[in-house]
Amino acid sequence: MAVVSTAHWHRLDDGRVQCDVCPRNCRLHEGQRGFCFVRQREHDEIVLTTYGRSSGFCIDPIEKKPLNHFLPGSPVLSFGTAGCNLGCRFCQNWDISKSREIDTLGSAAGPEELAAAAERLGCRSIAFTYNDPVIFMEYAMDVADACRARGIKAVAVSAGYMNPAPREEFYRHIDAANIDLKAFSEHFYEKITFARLASVLETLEYLRGTDVWFEVTTLLIPDRNDGDDELRRQCDWLLEHLGPDVPLHFSAFHPDFKMRDVPPTPPETLRRARRIALDAGLRFVYTGNVHDPQGQTTRCPGCGAAAVERDWYEMVSYRLTDDGHCAACGYAMPGVYEGPVGSWGRRRLPVSVA
Ligand code: SF4
Repeated sequence: MAVVSTAHWHRLDDGRVQCDVCPRNCRLHEGQRGFCFVRQREHDEIVLTTYGRSSGFCIDPIEKKPLNHFLPGSPVLSFGTAGCNLGCRFCQNWDISKSREIDTLGSAAGPEELAAAAERLGCRSIAFTYNDPVIFMEYAMDVADACRARGIKAVAVSAGYMNPAPREEFYRHIDAANIDLKAFSEHFYEKITFARLASVLETLEYLRGTDVWFEVTTLLIPDRNDGDDELRRQCDWLLEHLGPDVPLHFSAFHPDFKMRDVPPTPPETLRRARRIALDAGLRFVYTGNVHDPQGQTTRCPGCGAAAVERDWYEMVSYRLTDDGHCAACGYAMPGVYEGPVGSWGRRRLPVSVA
């Protein structure tokens, strides 16, 4: 089941075949793999070589994706595959994203099996995470459809580096997303991620016009993307193009992969970034990977009350109705709220879906 045909590619006059899934537009000779490693030219077409294969499954709190306004407190069945279409030098999941060992994708599961497992394990959603689902979109879409048939939602955690046609097809199957906005400079994107900021901003604007609930995360790296001016420009852009209600998460970097010489992000940097974003007019700004109760609280824009207080990924207090209105003033909180808050807590539970 691992190798399947794909749709988004075309032949070039010089005999190569171009994959059209992401702006990298890899042009491949027979047998060559793309930058992401999991898409390959085989028998004159582009195939996905990791359909139905995973690096393992875990149940996480949805807040860990991070999504703070989507089925709060609920458990999400999370998995990734191998490879990535970005080349981030600071990758925090590089053992997966840079994996060249497809055979280490030990867990195999088809869409039906996964959807049944999510239901059996009491998960409200399934998340394509750890590496970018853009590169295994055919598998992710089939899993999302099988889950939808059972009332389970699909979540994509992605860098948003995708071409328009596959993007449109992919997000028709997805209910919620967290998009990594890695910085707000083309220089950073070019030098540190080997990608382009403009394409990611295009994805964010595209999502604004869909029904997909999405939140944005920026991993702050000392002296690389944490300057006041850059943060102000980022927040102004988000406000102007996505509106004040898009949740923004600032999370802390830890030295990893090819950036082990850079120190971890000081908590004060996250608080400073949050102040800048709030001052810019964004309403829901969170800090992550640090102990910061203020930075993890959702305040009601209607009455200013602390509507949801969190400690890391755990709910400390919750004052929203089952359909997401402020219990104090009735303000309709932006997001997806369907029933009582979940009680999964902060646990991370590795599971077998077989
Ligand atoms: S999805 Fe993979 S093969 Fe296709 S263009 Fe992007 S990096 Fe290249």
